[in-house]
Amino acid sequence: MDCLFCKIASGAIPVTRLYEDELVLAFPDINPQAPVHVLLIPKQHHTSLAHTSATDAPLLGQLLVAANLVAQQQGLENGFRTVINTGDDGGQTVPHLHLHILGKRHMAWPPG
Ligand code: 5GP
Ligand code: ZN
Repeated sequence: MDCLFCKIASGAIPVTRLYEDELVLAFPDINPQAPVHVLLIPKQHHTSLAHTSATDAPLLGQLLVAANLVAQQQGLENGFRTVINTGDDGGQTVPHLHLHILGKRHMAWPPG
């Protein structure tokens, strides 16, 4: 499978594994957009959120549960932002579903 985040999930590409359970893995973004910028991925390949369905509800739920655990672990008690970019218009650049967790700076809304 020629997928960057599948290679990270399998350990073929080493990363700092900040959080991991049987379904998901968190690691630092290589190009951080905030003092804390963590990526959270399902270990199983899904190209994007648009490539999931109702049967993936437990996995999608675990992504949010884990996002909150990572936020607590990273000391984001003042708040944080979660982002899932989907497809071209969503600005997705890596075609493996991932959730961004950004914190330790104030983020404007709308994002532009
Ligand atoms: P997207 O634009 O698809 O929502 O986000 C992809 C993210 O993956 C970007 O924030 C980018 O910095 C990050 N990224 C791309 N390649 C790598 C990599 O090899 N390692 C890590 N840790 N992050 C990466
Ligand atoms: Zn993948």
